[in-house]
Amino acid sequence: MRRFVQTCETVSATTKKTAKVELVSELFKLLPLEDAASAAIFLTGRPFPHRDERVLGVGGSQLAKIVTEIAKADPSELGKSYRAHGDLGDMAEHLLLKRPSTADVSLQQVAKTFSQLPEVRGAAQKMVLIKNLFEHMSAGEVKYAIKIMTGDLRIGLKESLVEEAIAKAFDRPLDAVRRANMLTGDIGETLRSAALDDLASVRMRLFHPIGFMLATPVETAAEILPDGHGLVLVEEKYDGIRAQVHKSAASVRVFSRTLDEIVEFPELNVFFAKLPGELILDGEILAWHGSRPLPFTELQKRLGRKQLDLWLQHEIPVRFAAFDLLYQDGTLLLDETLEQRRARLEKILPPRDPSAIYTAAAIRCESVAAIQQAFQDSLAAGHEGIVVKRPESFYTPGRRGRSWFKLKEPFATLDVVVTAVEYGHGKRHSLLSDYTFSVRDGHQLLTIGKAYSGLTDAEIKAGTEFFLQHTIEDLGARRTVEPAVVMEVAFNNIQKSQRHESGYALRFPRILRLRPDKPVTEIDTLERVAKLYARQITLPRNNQ
Ligand code: AMP
Repeated sequence: MRRFVQTCETVSATTKKTAKVELVSELFKLLPLEDAASAAIFLTGRPFPHRDERVLGVGGSQLAKIVTEIAKADPSELGKSYRAHGDLGDMAEHLLLKRPSTADVSLQQVAKTFSQLPEVRGAAQKMVLIKNLFEHMSAGEVKYAIKIMTGDLRIGLKESLVEEAIAKAFDRPLDAVRRANMLTGDIGETLRSAALDDLASVRMRLFHPIGFMLATPVETAAEILPDGHGLVLVEEKYDGIRAQVHKSAASVRVFSRTLDEIVEFPELNVFFAKLPGELILDGEILAWHGSRPLPFTELQKRLGRKQLDLWLQHEIPVRFAAFDLLYQDGTLLLDETLEQRRARLEKILPPRDPSAIYTAAAIRCESVAAIQQAFQDSLAAGHEGIVVKRPESFYTPGRRGRSWFKLKEPFATLDVVVTAVEYGHGKRHSLLSDYTFSVRDGHQLLTIGKAYSGLTDAEIKAGTEFFLQHTIEDLGARRTVEPAVVMEVAFNNIQKSQRHESGYALRFPRILRLRPDKPVTEIDTLERVAKLYARQITLPRNNQ
């Protein structure tokens, strides 16, 4: 453990990635194999590898208590010391420094204690185990043991750098190391395979999630096809929860984009279990009603519930739209093309099956106009936009590349006219800086909101002079003004409200810019507001 601590300290002292990789690879070469495997896991800031779901079940306050006991420190000092360091591990080192350093423990001993902890139940028993370990450690060793137990080393070392260090230490191709780590979900096992030159025989382990491939945002369809043509597959962009489904015989587990398990939709598992063979599917869980998707806010109601609520299952039914197949019966499909993966997927699960799980339809488009049309169709069907994918692309876990693109609806703004103004507060008390604005309904102007922010001081000053001269009614603090100043406002969403004449209110409105180029006759209408309002009911913006 002493060498491990020294390496962590030197890694933390440099900001250069190459130096970090070099230091860690030296450590791996120096340690006995099993110690090196534990070091690799610990260097990712975890007591156990990814795929291992055991938890230590030890809280920070227990650790702090043990450290105070060993250090024979005054518990009342603890708060002060913690605030000074902001990290439990650093605090422990500080408190234990005065204690004479004792024998060095091996990384194997640390690993052994970690694996005993989930097995003992009571807090008291756990504390005995930890105390035994810490008593034989130096201050620096306790510091890093605590950092591992609380889940963050804070030495600027990402898992990808640990992979690089393994490749360097054993002189293996980085790709092979990365792949083995992804397949096994165990960086310790990956190190062992690299050391024994056995990376090629590493096989996928089902039931631990692999990284999700991500889409790059674009503003227009033209960005996807810079030459104006080329074949792409266009899918609807679902506003639900991205999910990776692992299935073998009757066992099914579903993982989220944060690689956590999703357990809230057990009714879907019945359908997954019926699919043939061993599979990993990628897709989206959607709330659905009749022929349209329900807003994400509805789906959200089903999340985070400990107890199954059958009524909610009925109230907010869900579907799973599969759009990729990553693994099938012993074969990892990441290096097959999207077209090949889809062909396999469609054989297992037909597109647009009316059942609870189905393969998402993909439209073949070869021009910008065709993509635009698919985009409009997707919005009309109640979705959030489209995801456009290159048919010849491979699946690249965890990466946002130039193979998948997402095209969402542009953020809506409204062009409105100022119909009343008020004096501001504080240093703006002499300026007319609070604006009430309106939209048009035929010949009428109806108020819809108020905004205070977004204009420059110079614009507010000029505006004050203008409004003083164009006041229709002077009510002291408030003035009704001639509808002449057009501006563009952004907002978070639209609500129904009795506060304003239009019957709607904008939430968190802010002025984007003045629109002197736009006549009042061309500002946005109540009809457009009603449309935007209706659309957000089916299209909330808070996607996962
Ligand atoms: P965003 O949340 O805007 O970053 O968009 C990315 C998310 O879109 C993904 O993580 C998926 O959850 C979701 N998504 C919806 N439909 C698809 C689709 N057809 N293909 C891939 N991702 C999709």
